[in-house]
Amino acid sequence: MAKIEAPVAKNEYYDVTFEDLTHEGAGVAKVEGFPIFVENALPDERGKVKVVKVKKGFAFGRLIELYEKSEHRVDAPCPIYSQCGGCQLQHVSYKGQLDFKRKQVEQVLTRIGKLDMTKVKVHPTLGMNDPWNYRNKAQVPIGEREGGLVAGFYQKRSHDIIDMERCLIQQAENDDVVQAVKKICEQYGIRAYNEEKHSGWLRHIMVRYGLVTGEMMVVFVTKTKEFAHKKEIIEQITKQFPQVKSIVQNINNKRTNVIFGDETNVLWGEEYIYDKIGNVKFAISARSFYQVNPEQTKVLYDKALEYAQLTGKESVIDAYCGIGTISLFLAQKAKNVFGVEIVPEAIEDANRNAQLNNITNAEFAVGEAEVVIPEWYKQGNEADVIVVDPPRKGCDEALLKTIIDMKPKRVVYVSCNPGTLARDLHVLEQGGYETVEVQPVDMFPHTTHVECVAQLFLKKGN
Ligand code: SAH
Repeated sequence: MAKIEAPVAKNEYYDVTFEDLTHEGAGVAKVEGFPIFVENALPDERGKVKVVKVKKGFAFGRLIELYEKSEHRVDAPCPIYSQCGGCQLQHVSYKGQLDFKRKQVEQVLTRIGKLDMTKVKVHPTLGMNDPWNYRNKAQVPIGEREGGLVAGFYQKRSHDIIDMERCLIQQAENDDVVQAVKKICEQYGIRAYNEEKHSGWLRHIMVRYGLVTGEMMVVFVTKTKEFAHKKEIIEQITKQFPQVKSIVQNINNKRTNVIFGDETNVLWGEEYIYDKIGNVKFAISARSFYQVNPEQTKVLYDKALEYAQLTGKESVIDAYCGIGTISLFLAQKAKNVFGVEIVPEAIEDANRNAQLNNITNAEFAVGEAEVVIPEWYKQGNEADVIVVDPPRKGCDEALLKTIIDMKPKRVVYVSCNPGTLARDLHVLEQGGYETVEVQPVDMFPHTTHVECVAQLFLKKGN
């Protein structure tokens, strides 16, 4: 193995000043310009680090002692923060987190997007008033310990399940139901699935909560279909939690760490629970995609709607529409909306949700946005506004090219990954668009994730 030329060496100690945070929330310090990434260190802090690994161009270190603390450092309130890994920023004040997210967006738009920051306004991150207990869905792996079950999380970098009674970013109702279901199952001698031996039965418990309606759903993910003590277990759950409207079983008999299998059956009650975002009602099934922070989803969609500047006369495309959440929001203010999504079940949900809300000017198609939208354009259709909300990998080039050819007056880009947002904005800018505003929205407090909405206008003369 070639020796790595670096100004730092493994197992050596260095006194450093931290300058930055990575996208994963690690502190960055430099020794002779050579970056060292250190967990649990913040910009402006000084400390001693031990280098634990040296790679080509960077190293990893461990914080040994902190000499000077950042004004943004707080004690992480969660007792299992360092074991869990679900949150990465609990040691940063909430204001510090919001500032970090805005700065990260601005840096990436400059570096990857090559945007002129004197022309683009990146607003302060819109955060939550109370950034705790926001998740409406718990997906909890089940394991065993002597004399009972554990329900919690996989310990960082391992597959050991640690028991957890409270997750501070989870709706307390979800934790209550998970704990109760665990106890009920224990009472009836239910065995947890064992990944290594492919033995046992109960793999995961999932709980969903409709924030506005208060309705709840419990999903048992099991290895096989037979369900010992089904009647008694259901009776106990529904007696303790009248807000549970739906109990569902999903069967996953594969040796895999993918949570769900292909077969889903309703055991008791309804197939759906309902929730509302603003004035739009949604039916949510066990397998539907639904945003996990409904309060901030409203903030995000309101911003997307504002940036779309609809007057009631526009034809709008919603690419990557999922279950039609943004489409139905837009439809209330547009002439018509055309939503495109790759997952057929999501489009079934979208159509059902349109009906549920008596929305008749939204139409949905199944397929790849980069195939369906170019075809639709070739057939002579056009849009005044295009909204895109792609997965982390961003928009396909063919879709961006069609947007540039079609020349909608405005593009609204909703993104969960600032890196691919920046890359795609660069392409659209080259194609005649101008990015005017970018609004980061904090959908996932205490994690490093950041969601953004960007508004683009077609430049005059294009
Ligand atoms: N706008 C929705 C969903 C956004 S998530 C909401 O706010 O709820 C991104 C969606 O893109 C997912 O539903 C995913 O299934 C879908 N998707 C992924 N690749 C796609 C493609 N090539 N074409 C269309 N949809 C795609």
